[in-house]
Amino acid sequence: MSRSNASAATRVSSFVLLIIFVTLALALAALVLAIYLYDTAPGVAVYWLLLGFIGLALSTYVLFQTRQRILRLRIEMPPITTTIECKKCGFKSVREFQRGDYVFKEVEPCQKCNEKMIITAIYREVREKGKAPTFPY
Ligand SMILES: [Zn+2]
Repeated sequence: MSRSNASAATRVSSFVLLIIFVTLALALAALVLAIYLYDTAPGVAVYWLLLGFIGLALSTYVLFQTRQRILRLRIEMPPITTTIECKKCGFKSVREFQRGDYVFKEVEPCQKCNEKMIITAIYREVREKGKAPTFPY
């Protein structure tokens, strides 16, 4: 699941990066134009200079924001765990979350007494001290 998240993030970020670099290129072009126009038309050059700086600031800002978001996404998400319990004998089993799991869903029979087991909890294992797992979604 974390892998599909990461690939989606990469796809989105490459598109965003393209826009950022186009904006950056246009901003630089505006700055170059401003320098060229400075001698002949300083009044117009000021606008291009302003436009160039705005574009530069904007693309740098977005680039920074995107980079931060990607870095956050790259931090590996802890796995989602499903706890299954047998109501008859109390047998408890923990396994990785599977698509379609929900609390109180009846799943495979108990390994001990063959009674139907139910899902009692679905949570993400947060590896932080003194913090209870986030219960349930
Ligand atoms: Zn049982």
